[in-house]
Amino acid sequence: MTTDLAFTFLGTGAPPVSLRRAGPAHLVEAGGIKVLVDCGSGVSQRLVAAGHAGAGIDALIVTHEHSDHLVDFYQLVVSAWHQGRNRPWRVLAPQPALANMRGQYEAFARERALRIAFEKRPDATGLEVAFEELREGRVSGLGGLSIEAFLVDHKPVEPAFGLALSAGGSRIVFSGDTRLTPSLEQAAQGCDLLVCEVFVDSQMPVVAGVRSAQTVASVQSYHMTPAVVAGLASRAGVEALALTHLVPPGADTAALFAEIRAGGYAGPLIVGEDLMRLELPARLLRWNGAALGL
Ligand SMILES: [Zn+2]
Ligand SMILES: [Zn+2]
Repeated sequence: MTTDLAFTFLGTGAPPVSLRRAGPAHLVEAGGIKVLVDCGSGVSQRLVAAGHAGAGIDALIVTHEHSDHLVDFYQLVVSAWHQGRNRPWRVLAPQPALANMRGQYEAFARERALRIAFEKRPDATGLEVAFEELREGRVSGLGGLSIEAFLVDHKPVEPAFGLALSAGGSRIVFSGDTRLTPSLEQAAQGCDLLVCEVFVDSQMPVVAGVRSAQTVASVQSYHMTPAVVAGLASRAGVEALALTHLVPPGADTAALFAEIRAGGYAGPLIVGEDLMRLELPARLLRWNGAALGL
């Protein structure tokens, strides 16, 4: 059976450290093309755990400037080179994220030169990076995998993008980090799978010395609560809903599941876990050796 479109959750977490949920990163595959979306903390390890490697990635797309989405960029570049990468990286991101990654790359220029000169690996092109600005619209050069970037609303971080991923007649919409916004509502209409961030407000109490009521309100304001996600998914008539970017990463998933149901979404529901893989159009969920039909 051919997999027309596959989506792998590499990291379903957020900035807080979690052993269960690495930093935000997802892998999209179709027609032999592999695109990594975001490179949060632990992405290189998760790629290997999922049976892939940084060496085999065709393009990296970073959705926005937040650290949890790009902090492992340089580690990804160096570890992929150690895996034998022999072609330059193609990296697409909005300008502020590009500037950050360029900065990471520049910060290690001397270290990189020393490695190249001393380690004498067969090919140094794997360390080269072509940085491109990510704009609204379709990303070129990905063969049968169509990726369309659309602006979402994660202010004050802007621009921030969501992605519509399609191949072979299947369509997945990935929210990126955003508050509820018309562009996402529109993109999600009737999609086969909506992969959506979630901020579990019921499990984010004020903690003295860690987060104030103002912190919780601010962070919640540029993300989506389970009630908001459920409303979006049911209005958009999505065929299936998967949650990722769990805040907090330690959220009780059964309670989260119940909150989505209470919010009025009754369709197939997946609380994403690291290394879970969804395949379309087969509607197959693979995780931990199990395969389940949605
Ligand atoms: Zn984030
Ligand atoms: Zn963010």
